[in-house]
Amino acid sequence: MKKHFILKFKIDSGIKVSFFFISCLVLSMAILLPFSSLHYKNLTQGSAHYLETELSNIKTSFTPFLDTKFTQSSCASFIREFRQKVFNEKIVKESGIFNQQDHFFCSTTQGDVSFNLFKSIRKRLNESPVNTTLSYTKTAITGEKSVLLIFSKPEIGGISSLIPPQYLVDMVKTELSPYDISFKLEVINRELTQNIDDRPFEKYYYQSSRYPFSITAYLGLSYYLNFLLNYLWFGFLVAGVSTSLLVFYKHKKLSQSSLGFSLSNALDKHQLYINYQPIVEKSDEQLGYKVVGCESLLRWKDPQLGNVPPDVFIPLAERSGLIQDLTYFVLKEALELLKTHKRLFQSQYISVNISRKVICRRDFIERVNAIFKKDRHFLNQIVFEITENTECSEAELEVIKENLKTFSDLGVKVAIDDFGTGYSGLDFIRKFPFHVLKIDKVFVKNISDESSYAIPLIESIIQISNSLKTKIIVEGVENTAQLSTLNNLGINCIQGFHFYKPVPKKDLINILRRQRAINHF
Ligand code: C2E
Ligand code: CA
Ligand code: CA
Repeated sequence: MKKHFILKFKIDSGIKVSFFFISCLVLSMAILLPFSSLHYKNLTQGSAHYLETELSNIKTSFTPFLDTKFTQSSCASFIREFRQKVFNEKIVKESGIFNQQDHFFCSTTQGDVSFNLFKSIRKRLNESPVNTTLSYTKTAITGEKSVLLIFSKPEIGGISSLIPPQYLVDMVKTELSPYDISFKLEVINRELTQNIDDRPFEKYYYQSSRYPFSITAYLGLSYYLNFLLNYLWFGFLVAGVSTSLLVFYKHKKLSQSSLGFSLSNALDKHQLYINYQPIVEKSDEQLGYKVVGCESLLRWKDPQLGNVPPDVFIPLAERSGLIQDLTYFVLKEALELLKTHKRLFQSQYISVNISRKVICRRDFIERVNAIFKKDRHFLNQIVFEITENTECSEAELEVIKENLKTFSDLGVKVAIDDFGTGYSGLDFIRKFPFHVLKIDKVFVKNISDESSYAIPLIESIIQISNSLKTKIIVEGVENTAQLSTLNNLGINCIQGFHFYKPVPKKDLINILRRQRAINHF
């Protein structure tokens, strides 16, 4: 029961923490989403800058040919050097050189050539702050549509280099594809790329300020998924930190308001109540079993933790010292029940569990006397159940002996609870005046099993009880087989689920009323 409670508590808080972690993860990813526009703009601009740099590098590497030494001499005198240059270039396939009058006189493929630079290109070169432009046309030499990078120097001439368009497209692709961004690359408003296959719902246009090309980025679902996946570490970080803070905070709160703390308030907040488990006795074969008394069993229902089992909170109360107040609360409730239902409880008793921590205190008699001050005769209907399994000092044992003697004289019956499971055994029962031995449920569990050690043990307990002249109650009887075995052993007094489970006060009253009605009938 205790393990089950702790496990349930752990599972409940585990589910809550996991839910919080997932919520934080989703929320942080949702917060990140608006930043995606910054991300794709940066990427698009980055790819454009990469292209600009590559084009500038080509320009720089050809700049040595922009010299009157070449533009004013014959093609044959430098064609070899010029071809060598193109050969060493990564993305340039061929190149041509024009003189001060915009007249092409030398090309790396054909050597001597003679044609003029287009006027429209000259116009663009003049408009460019760096005397550089691009063109996308079908060249006379290859017959293929190609990109031309053209740059010139006033008073000297210029160079035109041919670049296959796919090279430029691939450059942008290497930058944008890893992010699932599709794009359109245009040179002088003419498209180099083809077919944007997925249907994107967002686009971003970037025009280079240095060259006449533009990139339009298209962002579809796959881009956003990719973006979120790339930044999942961020989500995990935020969720991880938030969850750790939550767990830390909860832990702190829990240790402040730990079980002990909650229990100390439980009494004032009326979260504690008592269930009563009827105890039955068979006085004669014909009349069968009759309720002769009941055991008061404390219950705690915490608003947050739910029903906390006594196996958990009683040891806690014993450690914190709160057990005294709890015991006096149970005693007051028992007295109240006896008083308000005098007739019903005429020959019935209520047993109350008294922890050794309580019975070994010197003020125990005083406190109980204060409760029963005006109703001393009800002490005859009270049974104290004490266990034998807490070790005590000699001095404490002396106090217990005195207290039990005093109560015995006042009419209180004393029962040894869970008999057979404690340490002190026979020694303990010989020292004190007991009226009842309650045999623990562990002995009953396998009692119907022929090979069980329980029967000889119970038989020897019966012998002890006969010699001490005490009564026997067997706890934990759950079925008819156990009951009949006990019956054959001559045990008449039973407490167990077979007859009754612990029930609320009003149910106990109904049980007694019914029994009374049957008896009168
Ligand atoms: P206990 O004094 O041995 O009480 C009997 C326990 O056995 C109760 O458990 C009862 O519900 C359970 N029981 C009775 N018949 C059967 C049965 O047929 N089968 C099974 N499986 N169990 C049965 P509960 O109520 O959980 O109490 C557990 C323990 O908590 C008690 O054991 C007692 O030691 C302690 N306790 C409960 N109330 C108080 C109290 O007011 N003061 C003190 N000091 N201890 C208390
Ligand atoms: Ca008990
Ligand atoms: Ca018991």
